[in-house]
Amino acid sequence: MRKNIVAGNWKMNKNLQEGIALAKELNEALAADKPNCDVVICTPFIHLASVTPIVDSAVIGVGAENCADKVSGAYTGEVSAEMVASTGTQYVILGHSERRSYYGETVEILEEKVKLALANNLKPIFCIGEVLEERQAEKQNEVVAAQLASVFTLSAEDFSKIILAYEPVWAIGTGLTATPEQAQDIHAYIRSLIAEKYGKEVADNTSILYGGSCKPSNAKELFAKPDVDGGLIGGAALKVADFKGIIDAFK
Ligand code: PEP
Repeated sequence: MRKNIVAGNWKMNKNLQEGIALAKELNEALAADKPNCDVVICTPFIHLASVTPIVDSAVIGVGAENCADKVSGAYTGEVSAEMVASTGTQYVILGHSERRSYYGETVEILEEKVKLALANNLKPIFCIGEVLEERQAEKQNEVVAAQLASVFTLSAEDFSKIILAYEPVWAIGTGLTATPEQAQDIHAYIRSLIAEKYGKEVADNTSILYGGSCKPSNAKELFAKPDVDGGLIGGAALKVADFKGIIDAFK
């Protein structure tokens, strides 16, 4: 059966010392009160090598927020999937809407990134979701279907290693949240696309997370929906009390 997962996305927040302190505090909180779901923290590249050894890997997985679309070489400033994996990191967020819109990441670029992540045994947390105008024009299903093209070229075996995150862009960092019904509708649609492509078993085993202004006060209702298997959490992942409040929605 698919896993319930709460994953944090620190984005470009916390210097090294602050990031280490946050990871230690979360590790202590979850050692004292074990979660009922998988927990992942995705941090800036510079934190990975320091954070990975200080968290209990049986309780907290660590992920990057991006990786390069090239194997290695003259790509100044880029960080490869192999480099990420060499720190002991197990996950990588790919296709976040901020990367798509600010850094021009296309379906094709993301397809390369996903393949390189998998080749280096990283588990991609692959993000999809529509912008406000697309939701207002009721085009959200079309948009997510097109974005899935980056991962629908994978074999069924490789696709089974992917975690999906549906993140309506209009809900990210805005305080607006999709209603549990809106989330359920599109998660069920995404699962139906997976079933069409890879069969019901693969679809049933794929974790589909919701992301967009998720907080302790709305997580329980969202996660109670049958096709919502947890959350990808931005702002609320930066404070242990808030992040743990969301993790506790599975209790
Ligand atoms: C995100 O950026 O992945 C996200 C869900 O952000 P927030 O929770 O802050 O809306």
